[in-house]
Amino acid sequence: MNNVAHSQQISDNATSAVKNVSTDSKSFNDTFHKFINIITFVDLPIKQKFILFSIGVMFWFFMMFAISVTMNVNINSKIGTIANDIVPVDRVAQKVNRKLQLLHIDSAGLSKTSDADMLSQTIHVSGERIQDINGFMAALLSGGRIADINRDNGQLIESFSVEAINDVPALKIYLNNLSPLLDNMESTIVSLGALSRNELIKLQDDGVLAGKLSEYDNVLIDARKLSREFSANVTKLYTANSTQIIDATQFTFYAFIAVLFIATVLLVIFTISISRSIAAPVTAIIRQIRLLGTGKADLSNKIMIRSKDEIGLLSEEFNTLTKEINDIVTFKKVIEEDDSLEDVYSRLGRSFSEKCNLHNYLIYEVAGAKNKMRPVQPIILNPKEIFCNEEILDNCELCKVKKTGHTISSMDYPDVCKQFKKGLEKVHLCMPMIVGGKTGGVVQFLFDENNYNEELKYKGMFKAEQFIKESLSVIEAKRLMNTLRESALKDPLTGLYNRRFLQEYTETLVASALRRGKGVGLLMCDLDFFKQVNDLHGHSAGDTVLKETSGLIVRCVRKADFVIRFGGEEFLVILMDINEGEALKTAEKIRETIEKSKIKISDGSITKTISLGISEFPSDTESFWQAIKFADVALYRAKETGRNRSVRFQEDMWSEKGF
Ligand code: GH3
Ligand code: MG
Ligand code: MG
Repeated sequence: MNNVAHSQQISDNATSAVKNVSTDSKSFNDTFHKFINIITFVDLPIKQKFILFSIGVMFWFFMMFAISVTMNVNINSKIGTIANDIVPVDRVAQKVNRKLQLLHIDSAGLSKTSDADMLSQTIHVSGERIQDINGFMAALLSGGRIADINRDNGQLIESFSVEAINDVPALKIYLNNLSPLLDNMESTIVSLGALSRNELIKLQDDGVLAGKLSEYDNVLIDARKLSREFSANVTKLYTANSTQIIDATQFTFYAFIAVLFIATVLLVIFTISISRSIAAPVTAIIRQIRLLGTGKADLSNKIMIRSKDEIGLLSEEFNTLTKEINDIVTFKKVIEEDDSLEDVYSRLGRSFSEKCNLHNYLIYEVAGAKNKMRPVQPIILNPKEIFCNEEILDNCELCKVKKTGHTISSMDYPDVCKQFKKGLEKVHLCMPMIVGGKTGGVVQFLFDENNYNEELKYKGMFKAEQFIKESLSVIEAKRLMNTLRESALKDPLTGLYNRRFLQEYTETLVASALRRGKGVGLLMCDLDFFKQVNDLHGHSAGDTVLKETSGLIVRCVRKADFVIRFGGEEFLVILMDINEGEALKTAEKIRETIEKSKIKISDGSITKTISLGISEFPSDTESFWQAIKFADVALYRAKETGRNRSVRFQEDMWSEKGF
């Protein structure tokens, strides 16, 4: 690979990498917007959108409620555990501890004293204390009231209820382990309590009491150890529950913050998105409507469609409406600048198919004065191709729409028009084009008999009608212009072109003949002794002769040739695209035709003759106007040499005359 190609590829790769990045970020953007649209319900109908929005708000309220209730229940249960289980158990454990402590003190007293009364008294108190402990423990196991009474003065220290606690394993272990110890202690105390004072003293003296008390003390030490351990465990339980309460409170706080944050972010996104999708298009529509009112609106401007809800639909419809108005405004502007009526018809036809989806149509132009109508768009060469009977072309009064000026439709009334050909498997809708108060044209729309869409048809027809309406004033103006131009270029008596036409157009027509490499023949014709007709039969007979002669001359020449009324009874015939020498033949044809024709006038008929002077262009002269002059000179020679003859111009005629 050469360097250039290599670097080209590198740059191509770089470009495609950039493209990839931009496509990636574009697709990310699209996905992001789609996601936002989904969570903000932008594309849903407005009612649903707000229902879902309310549900969303309620959801977040519910979340907060659920969090607070759950946490509340949780904390309450912990507090309940602490208040109902841990605290009483702790208090009972403390009391047991205190009683064991007192038992320890009692036991120390027992081993020191030698007073029999004191001994018996202490043993009795110890027995009661052990019973108290047993009572406390029974209350812990199966629930009950604990009443702590001062032994010395019999006063109630405190009294509280304890519920039966079965679900704290440590407690069970504690009770199970403590029970035998207490039983042991109790049996010692009970056995000592059963002795008389003397027996006690004897036991003391024998040293047996000391031995028993030492045993008792050992059990008491175990019991105290167990009890202290249990107290420590209860404290741990208390701490664990308290920590859980603190954790739960903290969690509730963070959960609230999180929910509040998410709900606020969603609310902000929702509000921005909704206001963008609702407010922005509505504002744009309002602005556009205001501008429409002042005529300053740019109709090609489109409103951005941001959602698929009613507002999106409204924007879309508004865009369609402005587009249609724009189409029609543009159409009007363009046809106003069109040169010819044919251009206007062709553009109107294009609008039917391109803007109204009506592809099958036929525009007729009505030439009211001649009672004729002709298809103008699409261009039809063979009259048989039209969908109506051909007679309407020569007698436009047969066309129902032309006659009544009303729209007719065979979709609403089959066979509404007799002129519409049968067996075409088509239905028609014909609309008048009212120009200057008269039906100046008819537009026929055709649809397949078995296959047309009502809605589409009416939508298309409505639009087509707007296009027709907009075109009417332009068509009227252009037709008027055409008539004016025609009348300015034609002679009213004979209907032939006049001298003005000769001045304005013939030069260009002749130039194009020259470009084609062809010549032009000029025949200057003048009726012989025409003055006599006026003198003998009157001026109106003279007019008749002039009209008839014009007709005869026109029929002797081809369609592409021009016959011009050059003066009173003088005609100039311009023969287009002739070969040299041919003009004389046509001249003779004219002369002979007139000579043979009888012209009817009010008091009979007359026959006239005509003289013709012939020149050819460019073979006689390079100047067209000079060629006309030459034809006139030849005519002069024809008159001179006896009339009723055709004389070809010769060069010597010019010099002889001394022009
Ligand atoms: P020549 O054979 O020499 O051409 O004789 P002419 O009588 O035809 O010639 P002249 O030029 O003397 O007469 C032409 C007459 O044509 C004069 C005029 O009254 C008459 N004329 C011109 N225009 C009209 C018209 O529009 N209608 C009628 N009826 N007569 C017209
Ligand atoms: Mg004459
Ligand atoms: Mg004359």
